[in-house]
Amino acid sequence: MTAVTAATMFDTTRSQALMARARDRFPGGVNSPVRAFGGVGGEPFVVARGAGSRIWDVDGNEYIDYVLSWGPLVLGHAPPAVLEAVQRVMQNGTSFGIPTGLELELADVIAERMPHLEMMRFVSSGTEAAMSVARLARAITGRDHLLKFEGCYHGHADSFLVKAGSGVATLGLPNSPGVPSALAELTLTCAYNDLEAVEKIARSVPLAAILLEPIVGNGGYIEPVPGFIEGLRRIADETGALLVFDEVMTGFRIAFGGARERFGVTPDLTALGKVIGGGLPVAVYGGKREYMSRVAPTGPVYQAGTLSGNPLAMAGGLATLAALTREVHDSITARTARLVHGMRTMAARHGVPFNASHSGSMWGFFFREQTVTNFDEAKTSDTELFKRFFHAARVRGVYLAPSAFEAGFMSSAHSEADIDLTLSKLDDALGAALSGAKG
Ligand SMILES: *Cc1c(COP(=O)(O)O)cnc(C)c1O
Repeated sequence: MTAVTAATMFDTTRSQALMARARDRFPGGVNSPVRAFGGVGGEPFVVARGAGSRIWDVDGNEYIDYVLSWGPLVLGHAPPAVLEAVQRVMQNGTSFGIPTGLELELADVIAERMPHLEMMRFVSSGTEAAMSVARLARAITGRDHLLKFEGCYHGHADSFLVKAGSGVATLGLPNSPGVPSALAELTLTCAYNDLEAVEKIARSVPLAAILLEPIVGNGGYIEPVPGFIEGLRRIADETGALLVFDEVMTGFRIAFGGARERFGVTPDLTALGKVIGGGLPVAVYGGKREYMSRVAPTGPVYQAGTLSGNPLAMAGGLATLAALTREVHDSITARTARLVHGMRTMAARHGVPFNASHSGSMWGFFFREQTVTNFDEAKTSDTELFKRFFHAARVRGVYLAPSAFEAGFMSSAHSEADIDLTLSKLDDALGAALSGAKG
């Protein structure tokens, strides 16, 4: 009966009214599909504001937020250092279309922590970064085919809307209409962690690049098995393909220095986004100087952007990375570990098939007994239980990603007390979700 009580106290009148109007103005009422709650059903809420670990919707409901704008907000909502930096820079103008010193400052910080990005180019979204990296890899190798993994998402550029995980899977669209088949055919896919399949493809088709999320977040949280990433490096080297890490989500999350530090494997090219803008629109792609020199104007590979390297976005990124010291990263990691451990204990107490894991401040769980190693396995988890759990958590004030196939995040603003409160609310939510199943 706790579910009924929590739900009754939970007023969503204003959110519903706004969403009703929004559906008339935007497809699905949203400006990015996952926001429509297609993966869990029910009505999305409209947010009013955020502070630290919390967000408040327009009806005044408070949530401890584990989505954090889908990853960027590693310091939590509205961190004073970021607000102050953006406001200070903004006084001098919002955009110039001329180099500013800020771009160089942010690039230096990134290169210091990820030295394999010897040279880079800022863009405004992860989609742009992944799309540009694919173009560059094709230009460098003189090859057309790309290999990606089922369940990995690399933004919505035409070449990548093939078996692209959460948003696409939740909608049941394996591919998108509007992508020319002639182009989609150049994107080959195989199961994550299936090195044998990669080897077979790479030896029969000349690949420009093998691209992956070094830890998958967009098909639910899925880790590479030991040897997988090392194997990809070897196969890429042996077949002349480039190895590309799409670290738009994992960058400055799974380890202080990203996937290279975590796995000891250096990619040829890397895409970053999300955290490096601290909630402002920034992404970047980069790698070896010899490769990046092929980008215009030094080289012939064209790529440009009116707002690329935008000073407000650079200021947001700089303030975020300055605050995200190794010590801070480690403490967010420790809190993530405590949440994940607590959730395992909770599930065991309720006798539910469950597994959860994390790397740094990125985490995830599935209602399934065995560890998930690829997207097909992820799809065998209990998504109906997930949906009930999501809603039960939400009415109790914990906002989890609204899809069984998304990762969760942690921020430096989430306190020990927040974790304790979250665990007690989630325990209650799981009880309600399970009793819902019986009824
Ligand atoms: C979010 C994401 C993208 C796309 O970034 P946008 O800024 O949403 O365009 C690309 N790759 C990965 C791994 C992502 O998580």
